[in-house]
Amino acid sequence: MSELIAQEALPGLVDKWLAQGKRVAGPSVVKPGYCLYIELESSAQLALEGFIRPRNSIKEFVFPRHEAVCRYHFSGHSVETDDCDPPQVDQVIVGARPCDAAALPILDHLFTWDYDDKFYTERRKATTVVTLACQTHDDECFCTSMHLGPAAEQGSDVLLLAMPDGYEVRCLTDKGRALFAGETQAIEQAAVVPPGPPIVAAPETVMAFLQAHYDDPMWADLALRCLGCGACAYTCPTCHCFDIVDEGTAAGGCRVKNWDCCQFSMFTEHASGHNPRTAQAQRQRQRIQHKFRIYPEKFGVMLCTGCDNCARNCPVGLGVLSTLKETAGSAPVEVGV
Ligand code: SF4
Ligand code: SF4
Repeated sequence: MSELIAQEALPGLVDKWLAQGKRVAGPSVVKPGYCLYIELESSAQLALEGFIRPRNSIKEFVFPRHEAVCRYHFSGHSVETDDCDPPQVDQVIVGARPCDAAALPILDHLFTWDYDDKFYTERRKATTVVTLACQTHDDECFCTSMHLGPAAEQGSDVLLLAMPDGYEVRCLTDKGRALFAGETQAIEQAAVVPPGPPIVAAPETVMAFLQAHYDDPMWADLALRCLGCGACAYTCPTCHCFDIVDEGTAAGGCRVKNWDCCQFSMFTEHASGHNPRTAQAQRQRQRIQHKFRIYPEKFGVMLCTGCDNCARNCPVGLGVLSTLKETAGSAPVEVGV
């Protein structure tokens, strides 16, 4: 037996969550052919049909681009501070792609393994993720190479699978069961999960290649194209680097977390002025080596879900996929756009 929510019932449920005061986010076509995860005001904005991969990721709903962590003001020769608290609003992310949801367990570990970052963990606790299994993929998707797939369950509280008259509802956690309680009907059939994209490179092959090619001219070749703009990291569901800066005046201000990116020239600049990664080639090497060798060696999981947002958003079309293909010996890295 399976559970089904009818096609016409899902928008009503989304509007019900909104009416309950929940913050609801989901994919929306904001201009023709261009989809983003946005905070929804109504179910009418939700785009679940067809395959247009959102150009951002759901991480910004648990790890915002810019966030105040404390306020300060000067009083004579002393400084007074007030802690900021993360907002306590329940939120639902509906229509997440499996390659976005799968990044959440990675971020969960990152933001807790040595320090409990309450700005992340409080939001995460208040978030329920309703993922939509992919019916199709495009030439850029490579989730299967990262041991995921079109119906991967990692990071999801509920998995929806398209059926002729609605969606099969697979509740995977208590949060998911609570969200859909009383909203589904039992049916005999189960949804058919389509095959995912072909595997372009096994993680083990990639790791072995990177271990043997730390010093390699390929990094300089890649860097010739990179503009150091940061679009790859900002739209990657697993990239998580941030900087902490004080923004204020002589009277006071805020200490804030801002997203950061390893492709920025000042990313590793020390207070002394020394910068261990002065060349873009070093920064490109770091991005790939960290995601596909250093992090997995330390924590046993690749820092990538195969969404290819890095290439989709890169102004020069330089994502990790072409590099992975080179590591597998299946295609050269394309130089030039
Ligand atoms: S590295 Fe690229 S393909 Fe991998 S998760 Fe990040 S954006 Fe997606
Ligand atoms: S998006 Fe492309 S050009 Fe921009 S930093 Fe990333 S790899 Fe370089």
